[in-house]
Amino acid sequence: MKNAIKETLESVNEKIQAACMRSGRQPDEITLIAVSKTFPPEVILQAYNAGIRIFGENRPQELRDKATALPEDIDWHFIGHLQTNKIKYVVPTARLVHSVDSLKLAEALEAFAAKKNLTVDVLLEVNTSGEISKFGFKPQETLAAMEKVMPLNHLNVRGLMTIGPLTEDRALIRAAFASLRDLAQKAKDQFGPQSATILSMGMSGDFEIAIEEGATHIRLGSAIFGQRGK
Ligand SMILES: *Cc1c(COP(=O)(O)O)cnc(C)c1O
Repeated sequence: MKNAIKETLESVNEKIQAACMRSGRQPDEITLIAVSKTFPPEVILQAYNAGIRIFGENRPQELRDKATALPEDIDWHFIGHLQTNKIKYVVPTARLVHSVDSLKLAEALEAFAAKKNLTVDVLLEVNTSGEISKFGFKPQETLAAMEKVMPLNHLNVRGLMTIGPLTEDRALIRAAFASLRDLAQKAKDQFGPQSATILSMGMSGDFEIAIEEGATHIRLGSAIFGQRGK
Protein backbone atom coordinates (compact mmCIF):
# COMPACT_ATOMS: atom_id res chain seq x y z
CA MET A 1 0.00 0.00 0.00
CA LYS A 2 1.20 3.48 -0.81
CA ASN A 3 2.16 5.44 2.28
CA ALA A 4 0.50 8.84 1.78
CA ILE A 5 2.12 10.26 4.88
CA LYS A 6 5.52 9.60 3.37
CA GLU A 7 4.77 11.85 0.40
CA THR A 8 3.31 14.54 2.63
CA LEU A 9 6.43 14.42 4.76
CA GLU A 10 8.64 14.96 1.77
CA SER A 11 6.86 18.18 0.93
CA VAL A 12 6.94 19.30 4.59
CA ASN A 13 10.69 18.67 4.66
CA GLU A 14 11.14 20.74 1.52
CA LYS A 15 9.34 23.63 3.20
CA ILE A 16 11.52 23.26 6.29
CA GLN A 17 14.62 23.32 4.12
CA ALA A 18 13.43 26.39 2.21
CA ALA A 19 12.69 28.26 5.46
CA CYS A 20 16.17 27.32 6.72
CA MET A 21 17.75 28.56 3.49
CA ARG A 22 15.93 31.89 3.79
CA SER A 23 17.18 32.39 7.34
CA GLY A 24 20.69 31.00 7.09
CA ARG A 25 19.95 27.97 9.24
CA GLN A 26 20.62 24.24 8.86
CA PRO A 27 17.72 21.78 8.63
CA ASP A 28 19.33 19.62 11.31
CA GLU A 29 18.77 22.45 13.79
CA ILE A 30 15.04 21.78 13.50
CA THR A 31 13.31 18.95 15.34
CA LEU A 32 9.98 17.97 13.84
CA ILE A 33 7.32 16.75 16.26
CA ALA A 34 4.42 14.99 14.57
CA VAL A 35 1.34 15.97 16.55
CA SER A 36 -0.74 12.80 16.48
CA LYS A 37 -3.53 13.83 18.87
CA THR A 38 -6.92 12.33 17.92
CA PHE A 39 -5.34 10.02 15.33
CA PRO A 40 -5.46 6.27 16.03
CA PRO A 41 -2.39 4.05 16.45
CA GLU A 42 -2.64 2.63 12.92
CA VAL A 43 -2.30 6.10 11.42
CA ILE A 44 0.59 6.90 13.75
CA LEU A 45 2.26 3.70 12.57
CA GLN A 46 2.14 4.99 8.99
CA ALA A 47 4.12 8.03 10.07
CA TYR A 48 6.43 5.76 12.05
CA ASN A 49 7.00 3.67 8.94
CA ALA A 50 7.81 6.86 7.05
CA GLY A 51 10.62 7.44 9.56
CA ILE A 52 9.10 9.67 12.23
CA ARG A 53 10.11 8.87 15.80
CA ILE A 54 8.88 11.94 17.70
CA PHE A 55 5.16 12.34 18.33
CA GLY A 56 3.26 14.95 20.31
CA GLU A 57 0.07 14.39 22.30
CA ASN A 58 -2.04 16.82 24.31
CA ARG A 59 -4.26 14.52 26.38
CA PRO A 60 -2.68 12.58 29.24
CA GLN A 61 -4.63 9.33 29.02
CA GLU A 62 -4.45 9.32 25.23
CA LEU A 63 -0.68 9.63 25.50
CA ARG A 64 -0.53 6.76 27.96
CA ASP A 65 -2.74 4.51 25.81
CA LYS A 66 -0.84 5.20 22.59
CA ALA A 67 2.56 4.80 24.21
CA THR A 68 1.46 1.40 25.47
CA ALA A 69 0.20 0.33 22.04
CA LEU A 70 3.04 1.62 19.85
CA PRO A 71 6.77 0.84 19.38
CA GLU A 72 9.07 1.54 22.29
CA ASP A 73 11.57 3.58 20.32
CA ILE A 74 9.08 6.43 19.90
CA ASP A 75 9.88 9.65 21.74
CA TRP A 76 6.64 11.07 23.08
CA HIS A 77 6.31 14.77 23.80
CA PHE A 78 3.48 16.21 25.87
CA ILE A 79 2.21 19.51 24.47
CA GLY A 80 -1.16 20.10 26.17
CA HIS A 81 -2.45 21.70 29.33
CA LEU A 82 -1.68 19.34 32.19
CA GLN A 83 -3.77 19.05 35.34
CA THR A 84 -1.75 18.01 38.36
CA ASN A 85 -3.88 14.92 38.98
CA LYS A 86 -2.93 13.62 35.52
CA ILE A 87 0.83 13.91 35.85
CA LYS A 88 1.00 10.18 36.44
CA TYR A 89 -0.04 9.50 32.84
CA VAL A 90 2.60 11.81 31.41
CA VAL A 91 5.67 11.16 33.59
CA PRO A 92 7.85 9.34 32.77
CA THR A 93 6.25 8.45 29.41
CA ALA A 94 6.90 11.86 27.84
CA ARG A 95 10.52 12.71 27.20
CA LEU A 96 9.74 16.43 27.11
CA VAL A 97 6.81 18.34 28.63
CA HIS A 98 6.39 21.48 26.50
CA SER A 99 3.57 22.98 28.46
CA VAL A 100 4.51 23.93 32.01
CA ASP A 101 2.15 26.86 32.34
CA SER A 102 2.03 27.58 36.08
CA LEU A 103 4.26 27.39 39.15
CA LYS A 104 1.70 25.08 40.71
CA LEU A 105 2.20 22.59 37.89
CA ALA A 106 6.00 22.92 38.10
CA GLU A 107 5.90 22.20 41.82
CA ALA A 108 3.58 19.23 41.37
CA LEU A 109 5.84 17.82 38.63
CA GLU A 110 8.83 18.28 40.92
CA ALA A 111 7.10 16.45 43.78
CA PHE A 112 6.03 13.59 41.51
CA ALA A 113 9.47 13.23 39.94
CA ALA A 114 11.18 13.36 43.33
CA LYS A 115 8.95 10.57 44.63
CA LYS A 116 9.77 8.45 41.57
CA ASN A 117 13.42 9.43 41.69
CA LEU A 118 13.54 10.71 38.11
CA THR A 119 14.15 13.93 36.24
CA VAL A 120 11.68 15.55 33.86
CA ASP A 121 12.75 17.75 30.93
CA VAL A 122 10.38 20.70 30.64
CA LEU A 123 9.70 23.89 28.71
CA LEU A 124 7.84 26.85 30.12
CA GLU A 125 4.85 27.81 28.02
CA VAL A 126 4.57 31.53 27.32
CA ASN A 127 1.40 33.26 26.20
CA THR A 128 3.05 35.57 23.70
CA SER A 129 -0.21 36.65 22.06
CA GLY A 130 -2.10 37.65 25.19
CA GLU A 131 -5.17 35.71 23.95
CA ILE A 132 -7.21 34.81 27.01
CA SER A 133 -8.03 31.37 25.62
CA LYS A 134 -4.36 30.42 25.82
CA PHE A 135 -2.44 29.00 28.74
CA GLY A 136 1.05 30.04 29.71
CA PHE A 137 3.04 32.62 31.58
CA LYS A 138 2.80 36.24 30.56
CA PRO A 139 6.02 37.29 28.84
CA GLN A 140 6.81 39.79 31.59
CA GLU A 141 6.48 37.14 34.32
CA THR A 142 8.35 34.34 32.55
CA LEU A 143 11.87 35.07 33.80
CA ALA A 144 10.67 35.36 37.38
CA ALA A 145 8.86 32.03 36.98
CA MET A 146 11.99 30.50 35.52
CA GLU A 147 13.98 31.71 38.49
CA LYS A 148 11.66 29.69 40.72
CA VAL A 149 11.60 26.58 38.52
CA MET A 150 15.34 26.37 37.80
CA PRO A 151 16.28 25.30 41.35
CA LEU A 152 13.79 22.42 41.41
CA ASN A 153 16.07 19.41 41.49
CA HIS A 154 13.96 16.98 39.49
CA LEU A 155 13.04 19.35 36.68
CA ASN A 156 15.40 20.18 33.88
CA VAL A 157 14.36 23.45 32.20
CA ARG A 158 15.34 23.21 28.55
CA GLY A 159 13.63 26.26 27.07
CA LEU A 160 10.38 27.93 26.09
CA MET A 161 7.26 27.08 24.12
CA THR A 162 4.54 29.21 22.60
CA ILE A 163 1.48 28.92 20.40
CA GLY A 164 1.30 31.62 17.74
CA PRO A 165 -1.63 34.04 17.66
CA LEU A 166 -4.79 33.01 15.88
CA THR A 167 -4.66 35.48 13.01
CA GLU A 168 -3.99 35.75 9.29
CA ASP A 169 -1.65 38.65 9.96
CA ARG A 170 1.81 37.23 9.31
CA ALA A 171 3.51 40.24 10.91
CA LEU A 172 1.71 39.61 14.20
CA ILE A 173 2.66 35.93 14.12
CA ARG A 174 6.28 36.83 13.40
CA ALA A 175 6.33 39.35 16.24
CA ALA A 176 5.05 36.73 18.69
CA PHE A 177 7.76 34.25 17.69
CA ALA A 178 10.45 36.93 17.76
CA SER A 179 9.34 37.86 21.27
CA LEU A 180 9.80 34.25 22.42
CA ARG A 181 13.28 34.21 20.91
CA ASP A 182 14.16 37.45 22.73
CA LEU A 183 12.86 36.01 25.98
CA ALA A 184 14.98 32.89 25.49
CA GLN A 185 18.03 35.06 24.96
CA LYS A 186 17.32 36.89 28.22
CA ALA A 187 16.91 33.54 29.97
CA LYS A 188 20.28 32.40 28.64
CA ASP A 189 21.92 35.61 29.85
CA GLN A 190 20.39 35.23 33.28
CA PHE A 191 20.45 31.47 33.88
CA GLY A 192 23.06 30.13 31.48
CA PRO A 193 22.94 28.80 27.91
CA GLN A 194 21.53 25.41 28.91
CA SER A 195 18.36 26.96 30.31
CA ALA A 196 16.90 27.85 26.91
CA THR A 197 18.39 25.74 24.14
CA ILE A 198 14.91 24.71 22.97
CA LEU A 199 12.43 27.08 21.33
CA SER A 200 9.23 25.15 20.61
CA MET A 201 7.13 27.27 18.26
CA GLY A 202 5.38 26.84 14.94
CA MET A 203 2.42 24.69 13.93
CA SER A 204 1.05 23.66 10.52
CA GLY A 205 -0.06 27.17 9.59
CA ASP A 206 2.96 29.10 10.76
CA PHE A 207 6.00 26.82 11.06
CA GLU A 208 7.94 28.52 8.27
CA ILE A 209 7.76 31.87 10.06
CA ALA A 210 8.72 30.13 13.30
CA ILE A 211 11.82 28.63 11.68
CA GLU A 212 12.78 32.02 10.31
CA GLU A 213 12.47 33.42 13.84
CA GLY A 214 14.61 30.75 15.46
CA ALA A 215 12.41 27.75 16.33
CA THR A 216 14.34 24.60 17.24
CA HIS A 217 11.22 22.44 17.62
CA ILE A 218 8.14 22.69 15.42
CA ARG A 219 4.88 20.89 16.20
CA LEU A 220 2.97 19.79 13.11
CA GLY A 221 -0.37 18.03 13.19
CA SER A 222 -2.62 18.63 10.20
CA ALA A 223 0.31 19.30 7.85
CA ILE A 224 1.29 15.66 8.36
CA PHE A 225 -1.90 13.80 9.23
CA GLY A 226 -4.55 15.91 7.53
CA GLN A 227 -7.50 17.60 9.19
CA ARG A 228 -8.57 16.31 12.57
CA GLY A 229 -12.18 15.37 13.21
CA LYS A 230 -13.80 17.04 16.17
C1 LIG B 1 -2.72 20.56 18.03
C2 LIG B 1 -1.47 21.25 18.39
C3 LIG B 1 -0.44 21.43 17.45
C4 LIG B 1 -0.57 21.02 15.98
O1 LIG B 1 -1.53 21.79 15.35
P1 LIG B 1 -1.66 21.81 13.73
O2 LIG B 1 -2.23 23.12 13.43
O3 LIG B 1 -2.55 20.67 13.39
O4 LIG B 1 -0.30 21.63 13.20
C5 LIG B 1 0.73 22.04 17.86
N1 LIG B 1 0.89 22.46 19.14
C6 LIG B 1 -0.06 22.30 20.06
C7 LIG B 1 0.19 22.80 21.45
C8 LIG B 1 -1.27 21.70 19.73
O5 LIG B 1 -2.22 21.57 20.67
